[in-house]
Amino acid sequence: MPDPTYDLFVIGAGSGGVRAARMAASQYGARVAVAEPAALGGTCVNVGCIPKKLYSFAAHYAEAFEESHGFGWSGAAPTLDWAQLKANRAREITRLNGIYGGLLSGAGVTVLRGSATVKGPNAVEVNGEVHRARHILVATGGWPVVPPLPGSEHAITSNEVFDLKDFPKRLLVVGGGYIACEFASIFTGLGSHVTQLYRGEQVLRGFDDDVRHFVADEMRKKGVDLRTRSDVASIEKAADGLRVALKDGTQVVADSVLYATGRAPNTAGLGLEEAGVKLALSGAVVVDEHYQSSVPGIHALGDVTARVQLTPVALAEAMVLVDHLFGAGQRRLDYELIPTAVFTHPNIGTVGLTEAQARQRLGAVRIYRSEFRALRHTLSGSTERTLMKLVVADASDRVVGLHMVGADAGEIVQGFAVAMRAGATKAVFDATLGIHPTVAEEFVTMRTPVA
Ligand SMILES: Cc1cc2nc3c(=O)[nH]c(=O)nc-3n(C[C@H](O)[C@H](O)[C@H](O)COP(=O)(O)OP(=O)(O)OC[C@H]3O[C@@H](n4cnc5c(N)ncnc54)[C@H](O)[C@@H]3O)c2cc1C
Repeated sequence: MPDPTYDLFVIGAGSGGVRAARMAASQYGARVAVAEPAALGGTCVNVGCIPKKLYSFAAHYAEAFEESHGFGWSGAAPTLDWAQLKANRAREITRLNGIYGGLLSGAGVTVLRGSATVKGPNAVEVNGEVHRARHILVATGGWPVVPPLPGSEHAITSNEVFDLKDFPKRLLVVGGGYIACEFASIFTGLGSHVTQLYRGEQVLRGFDDDVRHFVADEMRKKGVDLRTRSDVASIEKAADGLRVALKDGTQVVADSVLYATGRAPNTAGLGLEEAGVKLALSGAVVVDEHYQSSVPGIHALGDVTARVQLTPVALAEAMVLVDHLFGAGQRRLDYELIPTAVFTHPNIGTVGLTEAQARQRLGAVRIYRSEFRALRHTLSGSTERTLMKLVVADASDRVVGLHMVGADAGEIVQGFAVAMRAGATKAVFDATLGIHPTVAEEFVTMRTPVA
């Protein structure tokens, strides 16, 4: 190969792409380019984690005002200015886009504004120009999919929901995954009447069963009209809103219908198959443990590989790949014990195995579980309850699963994830003193197994 222009050509400036480009250039002095047609930062920054968390904060204020009465506060309930919230969010996202641009240019990465197409193992085309690179990294993420059904053109996805022109007073959310549940909670908090439909038995498949049932009950208590074993037949535009016919013959009328039923890897039209890159049936790039595709020199990570679709995973994969390509790095990412949060109201925080997974993999397990009303709610008047659960391998005494539904669950679980990665046993949890009075102390004070 003639000397290529770049050591690494990254397609997509999202979580994984930006991290890989930046680390390769700044840590290893690699010549790096990144192509991106849209705003820098990808899904997480623009239409994912960040705007969602901002709206979740906004939604919590409604509860906070309500609860403040129990602590002696009084006054008229404030109202939400949707236009103001959207404008403030947009300003913050623009600031973050600028930071991403600064990080890339500061590291000496060439940013090409346009869509990229792979033209072979070492060639990428952007805006009609072909660039040669020793390595290509496909980090193009995913895109929400609305299943074909009559009237599907009236549905929106998570890409549009943050910027709806008018606040949806009646919102129908379709889906039972974490994104659907989060939006159902958030818009309920913001003041929408939310109906959520999920065709399965229970929302949040893959999470611990206790967590799934508990959070579904809490979401209902907060006002989400959550209906399981329920699905949409068709959507029709009418004078009073979108008329949504359900498969059970009933009907829901809503201002907006948000589909959050799944995301597809962004590989269509990328030229990957023409270059010989193997794709899974879902369209995901098939990669080995070093993120190499079936074509040497073409790599992929993050959501486009459709494995664990979380920003910290894409970031970690990027660092492992860059070490592997340009350093001595042979390390592999350990996909066990990935902590994660769901920003339903109340939040979910979880790390490690569910009870069912632990029983299947490890046989004998001990379960510790506590359900209670947090101290704050003794005065706030809220009926919100908290769930905390430990799954312990009986033979080794190691804590292999830790689950929580309650305020700030993600903040609490992050620290416990460190202890679990270090191999903490239940005896270590028992020997740890609690911080009193907190909710988190319950994780180190549960003594009697419930199962
Ligand atoms: C609503 C929502 C909420 C979420 N909340 C969380 C959360 O709370 N926590 C969490 O960890 N994760 C969350 N995620 C998931 C997280 O956003 C993704 O896992 C993460 O962004 C994946 O990073 P990535 O680099 O693989 O892809 P992305 O961040 O999606 O970046 C891909 C980039 O590639 C670009 N691209 C696509 N095609 C081309 C092309 N042909 N040429 C050049 N560029 C191209 C795209 O424009 C995009 O900028 C959420 C996702 C959604 C949708």
